[in-house]
Amino acid sequence: MNKTIGVLGGGQLGRMLAESANRLNIKLVALDKPAAPAKQITAHGAHVDGSFKDPASIRALASAVDVLTIEIEHVDAVVLAEVEAAGTPVHPAPSTIRLIQDKFEQKRHLRAAGIAVPDFVGLESNSMEELARVGDLLGYPYMLKSRKEAYDGRGNFPVSSRDSIPAAQAALAGRPLYAERWCPFECELAVIVVQTSTDTLTYPAVETVHADSICKLVYAPARNISTATAAAASALARRAVASFSGRGIFAVELFLQPSGDLLVNEIAPRPHNSGHWTIEACPLSQFDAHLRAVLDLPLPPSSLLPREPAIMLNILGGAASGAHLALVDAALATPRCSVHLYGKGPGTPGRKMGHITLTAPSMSEASALMAPLVHVADQIAARVGADVPPPLAAPAPLVAVIMGSDSDLPTLAPCLDLLEKLDIPADAHVTSAHRTPAEMASFASRAAQRGYKVIIAAAGGAAHLPGMAAAYTPLPVIGVPVKGSSTDGMDSLLSIVQMPRGVPVATVAIGNGVNAALLAARILGVHDVRVRERVERYASEAHAEVRGKEGRLEGMGWREYLQGMKK
Ligand code: ADP
Ligand code: MG
Repeated sequence: MNKTIGVLGGGQLGRMLAESANRLNIKLVALDKPAAPAKQITAHGAHVDGSFKDPASIRALASAVDVLTIEIEHVDAVVLAEVEAAGTPVHPAPSTIRLIQDKFEQKRHLRAAGIAVPDFVGLESNSMEELARVGDLLGYPYMLKSRKEAYDGRGNFPVSSRDSIPAAQAALAGRPLYAERWCPFECELAVIVVQTSTDTLTYPAVETVHADSICKLVYAPARNISTATAAAASALARRAVASFSGRGIFAVELFLQPSGDLLVNEIAPRPHNSGHWTIEACPLSQFDAHLRAVLDLPLPPSSLLPREPAIMLNILGGAASGAHLALVDAALATPRCSVHLYGKGPGTPGRKMGHITLTAPSMSEASALMAPLVHVADQIAARVGADVPPPLAAPAPLVAVIMGSDSDLPTLAPCLDLLEKLDIPADAHVTSAHRTPAEMASFASRAAQRGYKVIIAAAGGAAHLPGMAAAYTPLPVIGVPVKGSSTDGMDSLLSIVQMPRGVPVATVAIGNGVNAALLAARILGVHDVRVRERVERYASEAHAEVRGKEGRLEGMGWREYLQGMKK
């Protein structure tokens, strides 16, 4: 590659972009302070020392490169438009950067484009009367936001009542403001979108967890949401980004409301903290994708699909200098963890110093490994005391064993017992297709996002549970027909096996929970070699048991053997 790319900003995003550029022999030139994180890892003399808000520095950068991009939106967009007009391509478009860098203008643009956003109002001033008028209009609490220069919650103030208006005025003094209706979201989601010269592509929707308004954790893919919600999040994010011009990564932050509706919180026109997990989990990271989109290089859509679930934990500075290093030490010693440090020195409270990404074959394993690190992070942030021991994290279940009634439990006991012996985390639930249909539908439709890989469903009589569960989930469902009190179980077997075309349910013999457990283990073993080894060990033990019986029968003769069996 003989292209040179100029980046306004040289923080951690620029640094990770430089890592991607280095691998492709693309020369990356950063404009920022001397020894900014991005400059530390790319040794050449072409970097520009200065501010990404300074017109002369931006012009100097433009003259040294083939194409310009940004890693921060708080840049001088007017000068960017000028250098673009003078012949240096800029991605995303300067007009996009200008719109997005003013959160109020960004929201107006999105609303005009038909994208659902929280209710918001512009402010004439930040006077007491004006802020009280907004309280009357939006109700309390409401979120007062700085229109510009906002990041990591520094620019937001929740106004809880009329009495807290003076504190809000003091916190955001001198900044142009607007206000938003409070959004009691169920969770926050984010979608990383890649706009290329021909396509709008997305990574799967992730769940972001904020503490003190700073991103703390990212779960990829999002836990606890239905596939329909994940698809709706991607579709909304694509529509929102398509309303802006310019190539590259855009990150769309979303609120999932209790009603199930989605609202766009904000958009970043660059790689984003909610996409760091892609470095380890996907064939192409958000930084690789950004470079390829900006330079118009090929970008196969399937390269954005994760290989494994991932959790990202930010390494934030603590009160004491170097306090975050306790988390770094713990992460270095944790299996499956990749540790990134940004070269920012000893750290200040809440500053993003690095991050940790952990990938595993299942979200449950990732969560179990990550739990002690989250605990250390909470201790550094003084959210839990230094003397509190880490929580005991049980791995989340991979198999859901569901039954229409507790009377099915004796049939399922050998199944649960065998799953335990095979070291496959499973849990049991009573949920009925007939008596609690709404709860059953909600459970099955969220099962995949919650990390289950297989559902085992036992039912007797009319036996609708396996089929109804299969109708609500893309997971494999294994039905266990249960012998009823008045019939022989053939009724359940036939109703489970006679599923209409399009909604398959695997079926085992009447009452054979053991086979259901083994089939579940074989399904899990397709992608997890450790489970496959345990299935093979089980088969070889069964083999040895039968061979042992054959040996004893041969040795003692059938009469004596039979006598032994009768005892
Ligand atoms: P930043 O630029 O700091 O990321 P955001 O506008 O994204 O600013 O706000 C940071 C966080 O504050 C959000 O991720 C969310 O947790 C919370 N927040 C923002 N707006 C609202 C709102 N209208 N209602 C409730 N919480 C909000
Ligand atoms: Mg945000």
